[in-house]
Amino acid sequence: MATPTRALVIAAHPDDADFGAGGLIATWTSQGCEVTVVCVTDGDGGGFDDKVPRDQVPLIRRAEQQEAARLLGVKQCLFLGRPDGFVEVDRDLRRDLARAIRQVRPEIVVSHSPERNYDFVFLYHPDHLATGAAALAAVYPDARNEFAFPELELPIWKVPQVWQFGGPADNHAVDVTDVFDAKVAACSAHDSQTPMLDRSVEAELRDLLGRTAQQHGLPVGRLAEAYRIIETA
Ligand SMILES: [Zn+2]
Repeated sequence: MATPTRALVIAAHPDDADFGAGGLIATWTSQGCEVTVVCVTDGDGGGFDDKVPRDQVPLIRRAEQQEAARLLGVKQCLFLGRPDGFVEVDRDLRRDLARAIRQVRPEIVVSHSPERNYDFVFLYHPDHLATGAAALAAVYPDARNEFAFPELELPIWKVPQVWQFGGPADNHAVDVTDVFDAKVAACSAHDSQTPMLDRSVEAELRDLLGRTAQQHGLPVGRLAEAYRIIETA
């Protein structure tokens, strides 16, 4: 599958892009793709050391995201600053995402799946579902509809493909074995989040990505991320 020239990753919280799609991002940037990451929230409602003043949390998490992005070769990170835990698919969010799409003009948008797998309820944060739904609404119809959001004063843009991660119905696996170290480094940059894991970031990811590779029929020992690719041209 051809590497896009420009891709836009739309994530609910700092760290979602890296845990969800860090291998894909590293693969694409190594092949010359310009990747932009949009974080809808600053992750200010997440678990954290209670000795750290709460008003410092957004700054810390933005800095962690910027460092992770640097490690993956991401061109830029945009932060929408919405309150963590209460993302809704409203007009303002759809406008902000349509703006990002019209500015970046990506061939592929990568985002959360808006669908749950009810066997794993705890994987489906409401912010992830809302962000995935808003991203899809921004792709179709908002960014391509010349009558939507005229206040943006930007030319329309039709995104040909959306890749969703974390959903119940993946249809494509990406072998990320060769960029696994970069994904581990990017995920590990989120220092404020990783103490919540039972094991090291490396061990957690190796297990998860190894299982994903096996489910998609890759050879033993390979590591993969899985996506549902949706044609939106
Ligand atoms: Zn998240």
